[in-house]
Amino acid sequence: TALLEATGVSVDYHRRGAPALRAVDGADLSLARGEILGLVGESGCGKSTLGRAVVGLQPAAGEIRFDGRPVVPLGRRRRDPGMRGLQMVFQDPYASLNPRRYVGDQVGDGYLLGGTSRPEALRKAGELLERVGLPADAARRYPHEFSGGQRQRIAIARTLAAEPSCIVADEPISALDASAQASVANLLVDLVRELDMGLVFISHDLSVVRQIADRTAVMYLGRVVEVGPTRELWSSPAHPYTRALISAVPRADGAGVLPVELPGDVPDPARPPGGCRFHPRCPLALPECSRDDPPLVALRGGRSVACVLQTPGEPVRPLATRRKD
Ligand code: SF4
Ligand code: MG
Repeated sequence: TALLEATGVSVDYHRRGAPALRAVDGADLSLARGEILGLVGESGCGKSTLGRAVVGLQPAAGEIRFDGRPVVPLGRRRRDPGMRGLQMVFQDPYASLNPRRYVGDQVGDGYLLGGTSRPEALRKAGELLERVGLPADAARRYPHEFSGGQRQRIAIARTLAAEPSCIVADEPISALDASAQASVANLLVDLVRELDMGLVFISHDLSVVRQIADRTAVMYLGRVVEVGPTRELWSSPAHPYTRALISAVPRADGAGVLPVELPGDVPDPARPPGGCRFHPRCPLALPECSRDDPPLVALRGGRSVACVLQTPGEPVRPLATRRKD
């Protein structure tokens, strides 16, 4: 059974004097223990919002279950120890750290919440700081004394004190310099393997996701449009959007520049196109694509896709270069 399972999740942002913006619209996601799921898509596709929704930080419609139980909204978490296993790591570690408190005390907070005594919490905090690769005296220093990469390690140590079985990390390395990016990504991978956790790794950086994710989920305009094992998804994308997205990833230097071969811009999420919402930009669109909105369906081999070109229960059909007229 899934560690984290989201079905038909929708999130509306209500805006004064404007129609509600449906940032996530019926998205599905599932994560197993010990698995890294990369969640990718262009900026504004709803991946951060979906990440916040699945950990209970963002009110959402639909069904979200963690360890078999409905996810409890953040405000009602304190009295629910079962939900402490579901944690989030953010892009900016500094924002989640208090500049005036010793790092060791802040990491120890997680243990205090779990009922551990203060001296014991501090001792365990020291161990965690060492585990994430910080110097032995880190506990007795302040956050500003550390580099960006080290601060993210502190934020991760703080999360680990809650003894999570599932972490949702939203662009956890995007604010870091290149060398810190690689080492913090490697740390997350090591922790997932060692602690048998699940990790949702939200990123606009496809080359990193390709390297670390067991499975990849692709979002477009509030929907998950394709999910599958990373290697297969890369070698034979089932959705034309996935193909466009990965074709834009430079091979050598890894710098992420998003789609080059897609015509037009991402449509206004407040007014998504009818039918398949990718149809105005899709090089393979059929006449019915402007009318029918394809659901996410399971194919063979652990693949899922929302596209009329694929047949449920069948292996992925290779995508044509362009539509035959
Ligand atoms: Fe393109 Fe049609 Fe598939 Fe949508 S359903 S991705 S428009 S072929
Ligand atoms: Mg984001």
